[in-house]
Amino acid sequence: MNASKSTENFIPAKMTHGLEELFEHAPTALDILDHPITKPAEVQLWIKRDDQLFLGRANAFCGNKWRKMAYNLLAAREQGFSKLLTFGGAFSNHITAVAAAGEHFGLETIGVIRGEELNAQSNDSLQFASDCGMQLHFISRSDYRKKYMPEFLDSFRRTYGNFYFLPEGGTNDLALKGCAVLAAEIEAQLGFQPDYYCLSMGTGGTAAGLISGLDGKSRVLIFPALKGDFLKLELQRLLHDAGMNHLSNWDIISDFHFGGYAKMDAALLEFIYQFEQNTSIQLDPIYTAKLFYGLFHLLEAGYFPKGSRIVAIHTGGLQGRKGFGMA
Ligand SMILES: *Cc1c(COP(=O)(O)O)cnc(C)c1O
Repeated sequence: MNASKSTENFIPAKMTHGLEELFEHAPTALDILDHPITKPAEVQLWIKRDDQLFLGRANAFCGNKWRKMAYNLLAAREQGFSKLLTFGGAFSNHITAVAAAGEHFGLETIGVIRGEELNAQSNDSLQFASDCGMQLHFISRSDYRKKYMPEFLDSFRRTYGNFYFLPEGGTNDLALKGCAVLAAEIEAQLGFQPDYYCLSMGTGGTAAGLISGLDGKSRVLIFPALKGDFLKLELQRLLHDAGMNHLSNWDIISDFHFGGYAKMDAALLEFIYQFEQNTSIQLDPIYTAKLFYGLFHLLEAGYFPKGSRIVAIHTGGLQGRKGFGMA
């Protein structure tokens, strides 16, 4: 492994347009996960602490949202945009991350939110986004489906002037580029190529980015936080668009969505508290808790050959705990 690859996201200060914080941070920690479950399974498990990557109000610009947005914010600055517009649901971590990033870096933000019946006081996430200065624009669910139609975006340009467009969840080619960096960063930290990577999936941008960065190495296990047969196709589409459709070293583990997006039960909440007691690491109920719950089930079921070296990615999202009454 060529160690200099881990710095491939390094961009000289004069080219970062005031965004050096995003590119000059130290690699996030890669810790051995010291948990009793790894011993009988006879595997080694590391956790990549991207939850420790955060900035802005309430640390809401964090984890994989940072990785996904870094090159987009750079592109927005390079192209002279002072406004970002994006789409999201009422509880979206992406919306709060864009709002916090805009406030931190001095960019105006517009959040187009699914649900015409909502307003800025409807929940903590929307209130937070609004407090960061994000303009919230509420639309019906049927209009929301038009979110990628050029004419629809043009109608927002007439209302708000020109903006840099970030798709829902922040997933686009530059988001994949920001997440691809993880592959080299982790390999440089370990000094070898692990057998497995495990991570959570929403839109799949983070997973597709990691898979493209690995370029065929290791096996990537993807744990969706939502339910649906479309997830595999969606990941295939993202890889195809990135010119990476020849890569098949990944599997979707679809048994641990707990009924769907933001759905959970007492067992998952109990798991979060147990995990924190054992490891002193916090998880969020929407994404990372389902990842580790699923991964621990696979460990118990003997899914991994003995001696396997596994890296699980903690993609952050901890600010989302508040919305579920967790400290
Ligand atoms: C948004 C989010 C994800 C999902 O990322 P995708 O790139 O949309 O798959 C995973 N984990 C956390 C903590 C998130 O906030």
